[in-house]
Amino acid sequence: MSAPNALHVDEFVSFIEDALASRHLNTLILRVDYNYQFESHPELRDSFALSKKDVKKIVEACRKNNIRLIPQINLLGHQSWASEPTNLLKVYPDFDETPWVKFPQKYIWPNPDNLYCKSYCPLHPKVHEVIFALIDELCDAFETDAFHAGMDEVFYLGESKCPRCAGRDKAELFANEVRLIHDHLATKNRTLWIWGDRLLDGKTTGMGEWDASFNSTYRAIDLIPKDIMICDWHYDRAEQSAVYFSMKGFNVVSCPYKNSEVGVQQVDDMIKFRNSSPKAMKGRFQGIIQTDWSDAESFIDGYYGRISLRPHHHDDEFSQTQSSWLCFKAVFDEIQSHAEKAPKDQIPGKK
Ligand SMILES: [Zn+2]
Repeated sequence: MSAPNALHVDEFVSFIEDALASRHLNTLILRVDYNYQFESHPELRDSFALSKKDVKKIVEACRKNNIRLIPQINLLGHQSWASEPTNLLKVYPDFDETPWVKFPQKYIWPNPDNLYCKSYCPLHPKVHEVIFALIDELCDAFETDAFHAGMDEVFYLGESKCPRCAGRDKAELFANEVRLIHDHLATKNRTLWIWGDRLLDGKTTGMGEWDASFNSTYRAIDLIPKDIMICDWHYDRAEQSAVYFSMKGFNVVSCPYKNSEVGVQQVDDMIKFRNSSPKAMKGRFQGIIQTDWSDAESFIDGYYGRISLRPHHHDDEFSQTQSSWLCFKAVFDEIQSHAEKAPKDQIPGKK
């Protein structure tokens, strides 16, 4: 989920105690991006960002409750949203993989440029100096041994008009970027977590261009280090791809979003995979990560019933009956129901 707004840190800490610790949640990934007062690159801070003191409050709450805290900055892809670049490309437009793609006045999808989000150019000679400084500083502040780099939905990669990337193999470009970040983290005994979608073949599997890759990156699965944690997100259907990642030697977690039925199915599948796999693969099925893509305050409001969901009407694009907080509760209820009837070592999220 998103890291909290700096004004709501105390409320967030209460939420950790009340909603997460009580469920024995053991891992919390916070999407920080530029919501931190970076000293190494103050020019990249959000205008209103978490202080080190704010972060320490969260670190302390997690430590007290045995929750592993993992910060995230979206790397490679997701360098813009709708009609605006995010901080990295705003401050360093030279890093843009597609500088010729101009932001539209009013963003719509699909569009002729296939602009979903911008990417940085992984071969730009200056980009890693900047992002490695951010990673190090954030991991130090969060006192963590793991970092989530995002790296999902990278649509722009190895573009033919990029003077550095043109003609390169996209799977190799993706894998090299993953490896660089992995190796940098490894120098400080930290592990890398990424989303799994670029490592799945969207055409052959029929999983499509969001859950999986349509831009030839999927062969990267055989080119990256095996000690990377794969967050295998599938929001509309409980795909069985955790088995594929486990067979390739990766630790994997399955990730739902708003659809509770899918989330519950992913819990059941995780247990089935553990029970029905050879010994070597069992331990790689690491559990379930609930995802949320709103801000932390909205998720917490939803969790406490301060947001009402409206039934679906076909002419109302904002109506909805599903939510990440309902899915979160359903997923944990399902884990709990398994916990009551199974030995501890078979329960996702409990080790
Ligand atoms: Zn490039």
